[in-house]
Amino acid sequence: MAQKNIVIVGAGFAGVYATKRLAKHFKKDKDVTITLIDRHSYFTYMTELHEVAADRVPEDAIQYDLQRLFARRKNVKLVTDTATTIDREKKLVKTKHGAYPYDYVMLGIGSQPNDFGTPGVKDYGFTLAPGNTPSR
Ligand SMILES: Cc1cc2nc3c(=O)[nH]c(=O)nc-3n(C[C@H](O)[C@H](O)[C@H](O)COP(=O)(O)OP(=O)(O)OC[C@H]3O[C@@H](n4cnc5c(N)ncnc54)[C@H](O)[C@@H]3O)c2cc1C
Repeated sequence: MAQKNIVIVGAGFAGVYATKRLAKHFKKDKDVTITLIDRHSYFTYMTELHEVAADRVPEDAIQYDLQRLFARRKNVKLVTDTATTIDREKKLVKTKHGAYPYDYVMLGIGSQPNDFGTPGVKDYGFTLAPGNTPSR
C-alpha cells in the first residue's frame, strides 16, 4: 500500500480519542502515519475547567503532556502549531509554521463560547475556556 497520511487537527477529547484508536488500529501498518496537530503541547481536560476557575486546582493540574500520552505510539507524529487553513485541492493542512499533506483529515478543534447576544454577558461575564479562566 502507498504511504497514507492521516492528519488530525485538535488534541481535545475528540482528537486524542480518534488518534489513539487509529494508532492502535494501524499499529502494524508501516504505511500509515497519523499526525496530530494542536496549538498546545498538552491536552486540556476540559470538563475540569471549572475547578481551575474556582481556584481549587492550578491550571496545569488539568493539562496532560501529549508526548507522554502518545509515547508508545510510534505511528503518531505530534505537532505543536496552529492550523490556519485547509487546502482541499492540494490536500494540505496549513499551519502558522508549516504545511502537512493528508490523505484523510479530521477536524476536532472544539467550539467557542456563545453569549447569544444576551446583554451584559460579553462585558461582565467570564467564559470557561483554556487560558481564559479568571485570573488567580
Ligand atoms: C467546565 C466544562 C465542563 C464540561 N463537562 C462536561 C461533561 O460533564 N460531560 C460532557 O460530555 N461534556 C462536558 N463538557 C463539554 C466537553 O468538554 C466538550 O464537549 C469537549 O471538550 C469537546 O471536545 P473536542 O475535542 O471537540 O474539543 P476541545 O476539547 O475543545 O478540543 C479542541 C482542541 O483543538 C485545539 N485547537 C483549536 N483550534 C485549533 C487550531 N486552529 N489549530 C490547532 N489546534 C487547535 C485546542 O487547543 C484544543 O486542544 C464540559 C465543558 C466544560 C468547559
